[in-house]
Amino acid sequence: MKTCDTHPRYLGLRKPRSKCQKCVELFELKNATCNLCGLTCNLEGDIPRKFASSYGLINASVSGGFDSTPGNGQGALDDMTQYQFSLCEFCLDWLFERCKVPPRVTDYIDYRDESFRPAAERVAKDEWRKQKTIFFVEKEQRDKARNDALRVFYLKNVDAIVA
Ligand SMILES: [Zn+2]
Ligand SMILES: [Zn+2]
Repeated sequence: MKTCDTHPRYLGLRKPRSKCQKCVELFELKNATCNLCGLTCNLEGDIPRKFASSYGLINASVSGGFDSTPGNGQGALDDMTQYQFSLCEFCLDWLFERCKVPPRVTDYIDYRDESFRPAAERVAKDEWRKQKTIFFVEKEQRDKARNDALRVFYLKNVDAIVA
């Protein structure tokens, strides 16, 4: 069992990493799972990198309020309840593409707005992107995992959807 020698210790006692809250948080951050496709949000690929991390919306949380609690209020999320989830970049891109109002996309360098283009279009059209094959292999995997999850959902709810 590895001990934590990075984070503050209680009375100078070293804790095993599994009992150090900071270590556990870091581990969860690094190993977040996308709730939609079920795959990892960590994009380290075939070569594990020391500082590889999760990409996307990681450990996001949302709560309802008194006025939104469904059945008692006008919303869909319960009051006094936290919903925590992560979404990988591929699932975010998939969601963005389906949004009636696309997300606002702004360049960090000159703060100019550009219109949203799905990742596949950017990779296919932009000359400067070199690792096109890697992208499409990864995208195909994620699309398949997400489609499998959506298929299960639709089969379970087919009556409600048709009605
Ligand atoms: Zn620690
Ligand atoms: Zn995903």
